[in-house]
Amino acid sequence: MFHSAAVKLTVWYLAIIMALSIGTSFALYHTSSNDLEHNSQRQIGYFGGLLDPGSANDFATLRFKQLNEDRDHLKANLIFFNLLVLVSGGAAAYALARRTLEPIENALEAQTRFTSDASHELRTPLTAMQTENEVALRNSALTKNQAVEILKSNLEEVGKLKALSEGLLALANAGGNEDLDNPVELKTVAAQAEERVAKISQLKKIQITNSVGDLIVKGNQQNLVDLVVILLDNAIKYSAPGSEVTISSKRKDKRAGIIVTDQGQGINSSDLPHIFDRFYRADNSRSKQKAEGYGLGLAIAKKIADLHNATIEVKSAPNKGSSFSVYLPLAN
Ligand code: ADP
Repeated sequence: MFHSAAVKLTVWYLAIIMALSIGTSFALYHTSSNDLEHNSQRQIGYFGGLLDPGSANDFATLRFKQLNEDRDHLKANLIFFNLLVLVSGGAAAYALARRTLEPIENALEAQTRFTSDASHELRTPLTAMQTENEVALRNSALTKNQAVEILKSNLEEVGKLKALSEGLLALANAGGNEDLDNPVELKTVAAQAEERVAKISQLKKIQITNSVGDLIVKGNQQNLVDLVVILLDNAIKYSAPGSEVTISSKRKDKRAGIIVTDQGQGINSSDLPHIFDRFYRADNSRSKQKAEGYGLGLAIAKKIADLHNATIEVKSAPNKGSSFSVYLPLAN
């Protein structure tokens, strides 16, 4: 599809280049040919006055012959020039067409990949529910207890589907149409994020230590809370019960960082370059059934950070813990 679009675009670009080149060549030929004719006539007039009529006639014939030769020469040069423009312009037009289409092609490819990844993730819980229900329907001796178990399991799968669709929605909407230039206190962001994860941290008996200082950044408070919730949620999810999670801040040049550190399972260096990709989950988090998720959290966090002109740095050592730092522009 993109190849034929590139060819079509090349033809259009080349048509424009050739129209300009041929138009200019015609104008050039016309003015140069008039100049040549004007010069010959001036010479014929001048020498006609000095020479006898016979020689003047011969001179005029010679000059007209030369004029025609000069015109033919000019024509040949212009044809050669236009052929050169056609060949080099064709190559340049194709390169330009590819360059024009490249970002569109990349965006479409990313969209297709996203749709296929999302469908794949949606299919897993749906297939599980379908199989369970089909088996149950075939069992004529199904007891009430068995039916209740199946309904519970179905509800669990529905919960996963809901979480996945909420994640997808959050990814699509993250930072959209929001005012991203408000002064926001990092302390408030940290406190609100801490409050939102309080229940899960208590359930896992994980202590959160908050030492965020008085720093004011530029951004959207709600989006920044969402970002820190994702980091805290992961820190809790990938840590052993009873361990500690800290949330602190740091000033670096004209930026302020908010840092979430855990003492959890850490991330292998081979996984680090991919953890911000959509649907990416490190192998250890996939195999550990306890750590639920779809690999969307950090993709959402990255999208929010990008919209805020912020950077996210990760330091992690397997079995020692991880530290995620988000550096945001200071408000003043
Ligand atoms: P999810 O947590 O839903 O799998 P994320 O996008 O939030 O998705 O994280 C992607 C992957 O990065 C996780 O599957 C996990 O392997 C790894 N990861 C993220 N945060 C941490 C952390 N604090 N400690 C260990 N691994 C982490």
